[in-house]
Amino acid sequence: VIPAVPGEVPGGAPAAYRVAAGGELEAREVSAWFGERLVLDRVSLTMPARSVTALIGPSGCGKSTFLRILNRMHELVPSAALAGEVLLDGEDVYDPRRKLTDARRSIGMVFQKPNPFPAMSIRENVLAGLRLTGTKASRAEKDELVESSLVRAGLWTEVRDRLSAPGGGLSGGQQQRLCIARSLAVRPEVLLMDEPCSALDPTSTRVIEETMTELAREITIVIVTHNMQQARRVSQTCAFFLAAQGTPGVIVEHGDTDAMFSTPRDQRTSDYVNGRF
Ligand code: ADP
Ligand code: MG
Repeated sequence: VIPAVPGEVPGGAPAAYRVAAGGELEAREVSAWFGERLVLDRVSLTMPARSVTALIGPSGCGKSTFLRILNRMHELVPSAALAGEVLLDGEDVYDPRRKLTDARRSIGMVFQKPNPFPAMSIRENVLAGLRLTGTKASRAEKDELVESSLVRAGLWTEVRDRLSAPGGGLSGGQQQRLCIARSLAVRPEVLLMDEPCSALDPTSTRVIEETMTELAREITIVIVTHNMQQARRVSQTCAFFLAAQGTPGVIVEHGDTDAMFSTPRDQRTSDYVNGRF
């Protein structure tokens, strides 16, 4: 059902479940304020297409803020201000002519705490994003979309027989995969994940890591994690954020994940990845 190469299904897959090709996401000199307080200072990072980028660093250094800036969620905070640019395949995500729902559709987000609509059925949870983006689909297309999204999120075999059961009845790890399926159903080019496994047991964590690796064949993944082993396992690119006492968050070092863990260029990176703070 899912084309191995997007768009290469003979005759073309129905638009409702065609997989979007991942795009390159680039932050250029991004600064962020809450009121008067600068929390990110000219952060630049390229997150390559169809791969996993891990954002690591101590609490409070601005990783979640940075992630929210990437899909314009930062704008929801009244005291928040922003400078710099975010580009998806070279196009300005903040272009005022670009519709906000379009930015949110193409750049999805999954949070630390799984947040499915608990009373809504598993099926309706997966389809929830279509209403927001105004996507029209027939019953058959929706069935196909529910299945393909749940397959991609690694949840299909566990729930195929109870699609009308409430999402809130699933285990924590299943709920998180349901949230991933819900994000995938609107065919994002990028999926942002803010500590997606921090609230989950080790088994669910491994399943989601495998899911991320699979997804990164098609789309771009950016994950915030406090788990260094996880960063090493899943990511190809890594960025180390740090906010020294009283100063805004910056990226100390970024680049190839293996290189950053084996031969960090900065002493602070070395200390952090080796658990020394
Ligand atoms: P991290 O995800 O790396 O732990 P955050 O991006 O959550 O860091 O936070 C960065 C800094 O911004 C912190 O000092 C935090 O207290 C502050 N901050 C985060 N969200 C808000 C907000 N909505 N209003 C004011 N300050 C905030
Ligand atoms: Mg955070």
